Amino acid sequence: MSDTYLNLVNSGFTKKVAQQLGLPRPAQLRRFRPGQPLVDGPVLVLGSGTEAESLAHLLSGTGLDDGGAVRGWDLDVRRTPAADERYAAVVLVLTDVQHPDDLAGPVLTAGGVLKGLAPGARVVTLSRPATADDGPALAAARQGVDGVLRSLAKELRGGATANGVVVADGVPVDAPSALGALRFFLSTRSAFVDGQLLTVGSDAGTLPADWDQPLAGRVAVVTGAARGIGASIAATLARDGATVVAVDVPAAGEQLAAVANSVRGTALQLDVTGPDAGQKILDHATARHGRLDIVVHNAGITRDKLLANMTPEKWDPVLAVNVDAPLRINEALVESGDFTDAPRIVALASTSGIAGNRGQTNYAASKGGVIGMVRATAPLLTAFGGTANAVAPGFIETEMTARIPALTRQVARRLNSLQQGGQPIDVAETVAFLASPQAGGIMGQTLRVCGQNMVGQ
Ligand code: NAD
Repeated sequence: MSDTYLNLVNSGFTKKVAQQLGLPRPAQLRRFRPGQPLVDGPVLVLGSGTEAESLAHLLSGTGLDDGGAVRGWDLDVRRTPAADERYAAVVLVLTDVQHPDDLAGPVLTAGGVLKGLAPGARVVTLSRPATADDGPALAAARQGVDGVLRSLAKELRGGATANGVVVADGVPVDAPSALGALRFFLSTRSAFVDGQLLTVGSDAGTLPADWDQPLAGRVAVVTGAARGIGASIAATLARDGATVVAVDVPAAGEQLAAVANSVRGTALQLDVTGPDAGQKILDHATARHGRLDIVVHNAGITRDKLLANMTPEKWDPVLAVNVDAPLRINEALVESGDFTDAPRIVALASTSGIAGNRGQTNYAASKGGVIGMVRATAPLLTAFGGTANAVAPGFIETEMTARIPALTRQVARRLNSLQQGGQPIDVAETVAFLASPQAGGIMGQTLRVCGQNMVGQ
């Protein structure tokens, strides 16, 4: 689906008119292309502690270590801001703050460079979670980072984003998932992720031998893969090296076969609500590809109705597809004993499941359900180095959202910090990251892909 307004305010004469009238001008977001540099310009790493120092070292490093792993990211790192320099990224290491008064130094220094950020720049904070075990001043300082990040993201323009990595106490800032999350937020893969904080709970996970093929050797199942977000997830997982099993209902068989062929995977015609769907998925993946490592629960439906008019005919199928089926499939996989090599479950939630949406009590029950499901499923997989997480898209340009009335659709698109709808690829990139080996320390989380939608948290 294309956004005519976004195209108009970014081209030729209409761009000038929009400028003169002071109309909102959403930026054309830069998306990931293989071979693109991770960050295209200088990176300013702020923070005074030893963790900031070691991270700056790692980001700027080059070459291989004794084991042949890439030691550094070869970025153009600066430690102090210089006048007239245009930064492509600012990494704000705030893991050592002890008191709210400690925020002023690094945060105001970062503020000083924001006006000169490059288009599509990235700001990423690294911090520690505020917990009830912290002293009150420490918890205040840490929670303050959250407020800074979310507000800063609302101030950025030109397609720039701000996101935070919250690293649990006792987990080093160079743990695989802390680095994996930092890299994801710095890259164009996270183009439509904005104003979000992602918690790294452990040092589990491994850095990939090749950052461009992190899923090499892995077998992934994607449900609802015949079109929209699911088709994009299938393509993205395949691009990142996975062998993909594309699942959808028999009625979508033709489209499904086209998707499976285009990613050189296999198609499985299956209604995910069937009682033995989990076993059928496992049987297909192991018979055709020898294993199953990643399951993406993407199949989803809406049947909107105000609760006052809601009927079981509108309620039941939404719950059955969106949450009952993933629950039953996960249970079958966990019980099978064949889903134990650092497995990954990624389920599609929705911002409706967080903030609620008028006319969507059934959908929000199912998507809120998905958020609860992954939180409680993750601990069942940690013994195998596995994870379960969710991705909550906001407004994404698909056939599902094309059915929204035109005016409501226009408003929905502008109600986020990036002032536009996301693309299926934005959700797919986030799913691919959570499915990767470097996300092994991210467990039970829900990451929003919503351009920092003003609705909800
Ligand atoms: P879509 O309607 O374009 O595609 C959904 C796919 O799921 C279809 O191919 C459909 O055939 C398949 N499917 C439906 N029921 C199935 C079943 N019982 N068994 C197997 N396959 C089935 O939807 P989309 O916009 O691509 O959304 C994908 C996911 O993202 C859904 O879970 C949706 O709730 C979620 N989501 C979408 C948006 C958005 O803005 N589009 C926002 C938030 C969440």
